[in-house]
Amino acid sequence: MDPMADLGQDDAGFTPAARNALAELEEAGLASQARTMAWASVNSGSYELANLQVMADLLCEAFSALPGSVERLALPPAQRVRSDGVVEERALGDAIRIQVRPQAALQLALTGHYDTVFPAQHAFQHVREADGRLHGPGVADMKGGLSIMLDALLAFERSGLGRGVGYTVLLSSDEEIGSPGSATLLAALGAQARFGMTYEPATPDGFLIDARKGSGNFTLVVRGRAAHVGRAFEQGRNAVTAAARFAAALDALNGRLPGVTCNVGAIEGGGPVNMVPDRAVVRFNLRAPDKVAIQTALAAVDRLVQDLDGSDGFSARLHGGFGRPPKPLGPAQQAAAALVRAAGRRIGLDLAFRASGGVCEGNNLAAAGCPNIDTLGVVGGGLHSDEEWALKSSFAERARLSFAILEGVASHALPLPERIA
Ligand SMILES: [Zn+2]
Repeated sequence: MDPMADLGQDDAGFTPAARNALAELEEAGLASQARTMAWASVNSGSYELANLQVMADLLCEAFSALPGSVERLALPPAQRVRSDGVVEERALGDAIRIQVRPQAALQLALTGHYDTVFPAQHAFQHVREADGRLHGPGVADMKGGLSIMLDALLAFERSGLGRGVGYTVLLSSDEEIGSPGSATLLAALGAQARFGMTYEPATPDGFLIDARKGSGNFTLVVRGRAAHVGRAFEQGRNAVTAAARFAAALDALNGRLPGVTCNVGAIEGGGPVNMVPDRAVVRFNLRAPDKVAIQTALAAVDRLVQDLDGSDGFSARLHGGFGRPPKPLGPAQQAAAALVRAAGRRIGLDLAFRASGGVCEGNNLAAAGCPNIDTLGVVGGGLHSDEEWALKSSFAERARLSFAILEGVASHALPLPERIA
């Protein structure tokens, strides 16, 4: 006979209340998939304001089942440099913040986004089930994740085990465009939470991510001098060819700085071929593994900008920055991964981690000192494409994982990482 049985604990150390909650979550998988399909049927591309409102209403209603306050927070507009170099503002949807037991000594942060990369006119809108998978826009990234986050929190509340733990849920509308509006909310949340849980999908083979590079999006606006090709070609200063030279110099940085990548995404500008074009923009992305590499990369880019700016009738102005700071695998992140691995073992999951060059809200939480695991969503793949899918069996599995983390933290069975220094 199991000697623990008399104490009301099974061999994983769960109390009867926790065991009940885990059994309920096993049963809740199908309903969670149905809710995900309903949510994914609402288009919520990052700039689709009316649709984002509809989605926010659905989320507010669903998350109001938690015993806390639900607020909608207006976000400041995002800025975008147009191809003529003019900076314009674009309105964003609301963030949603739910706070439960804000007075508790231990505070956790749970974050996710309800925008997707698919605008309303994109062909990929239909949601369907086939071959043990859900297919549709956002089923994995991340409406499925939001659904299991809610499942786990509801089970945690019903179990009565969470009295000593408070938490804030932040649901954002602008993650897929780099969190320009919600970055300050994420930073404030990361500054006060002891541990973060974010619901990006796990990899297609079920891995979680423990470390991420930092990522910055930049736009260089180049201004030259317009001239008629036939009458005064020599007086012109061609902004398009200057932008092309700048882009080639950026590309040449690849392989020179350890771990740093520089991708030129677009050169825009110019017009009729009988005019020397006076305006062009270069859009590019930098990724770097840590703060030192970011400083080195930024210095290299700055030298290229200085070389162009003011030279021979040209001017150059750089916009943008590292909106996603790096999330290196330091001691606190190692401890965060160990916590999640231990929680997985208690429910029979053998979880593995790897690093990624991709970025998400977990980067922002880590930069504010909050150790976090940011791939606690469903298992899925084909992200940001019309092949996106979510594994149906992972809904119950990963909801149980989140519950096991929450229960383990609340019962002190799983030690929390220190904050990131
Ligand atoms: Zn995502």
